[in-house]
Amino acid sequence: MFTHPSALRLLTVHAHPDDESSKGAATLARYAAQGVDVMVATCTGGERGSVLNPALDRPGTRAELTRIRREEMAAAREILGVGQRFLGFTDSGLPGPGEPLPDGCFALLPPAVAAEPLITLIREFRPHVVVTYDETGGYPHPDHVMTHRVTVEAVEGAADPDRCPEAGEPWQVAKLYYHLALSRAWFQAMHDSMTARGVDSAMGEVLAGWPDAPPALATTTRIRCAEQFAVRDAALLAHATQIQPGTGFMAHPREIEREVWPTEDYHLARSLVETVLPESDLFAGLRPGEEHG
Ligand SMILES: [Zn+2]
Repeated sequence: MFTHPSALRLLTVHAHPDDESSKGAATLARYAAQGVDVMVATCTGGERGSVLNPALDRPGTRAELTRIRREEMAAAREILGVGQRFLGFTDSGLPGPGEPLPDGCFALLPPAVAAEPLITLIREFRPHVVVTYDETGGYPHPDHVMTHRVTVEAVEGAADPDRCPEAGEPWQVAKLYYHLALSRAWFQAMHDSMTARGVDSAMGEVLAGWPDAPPALATTTRIRCAEQFAVRDAALLAHATQIQPGTGFMAHPREIEREVWPTEDYHLARSLVETVLPESDLFAGLRPGEEHG
């Protein structure tokens, strides 16, 4: 079913439908447009998500949320030009302080068990590059932290001939990256630029509650993808229950973003190939005929 055995392949692993469109979507669109095989693995169905668009927040929407989010995901993957699979786990929701996680949810599973569907997908799709969240999940949601654990477990497990021998031939992923989307530096640069141009910015509030500490992970890789911001936005808006047009991430002027921060940024966590940092390509060191050093 994967038609280009010689093509470069990129797999990105996300917790919920919409995460692929809010973190790294322009990168996916850019590589897909270049002929790279791009696959999104979505760990859960987003069943316990909220309806974040007041215009759609009706009892009927909530009752049908699982089906609606599958349809939204199908629309977004078409817009981005990528393949996508659900791994079949149940959304853990975002429990309040002291509240237990619901029985059977994704975040309560042992990572070794939860990694099995992803090991199968990795052996089938054979990605050269895998992208997911860092140890913190990038966002304090139990499914995002679990997605990190499961991805690391599956990248290791897929290469191990003793793991899941029924799941196909072992496959060694060459590079593993973590997203650095929506960093403090991004908010600061956007806020400063908007303020200097007399554009209203709601980002000052975000920045005020965010200590200006050095980032935990270095930016190793910047992908120029401003040309794909419009595709990213269209994919985000396809998740119509999850985003309110004109607010939050949709509020800032795109011409300012294209000028001030025309990249999506990553941290190279592991590499089995030689590469020179900083990189401008997730496949640096993997392209046929590429010279090293
Ligand atoms: Zn999420």
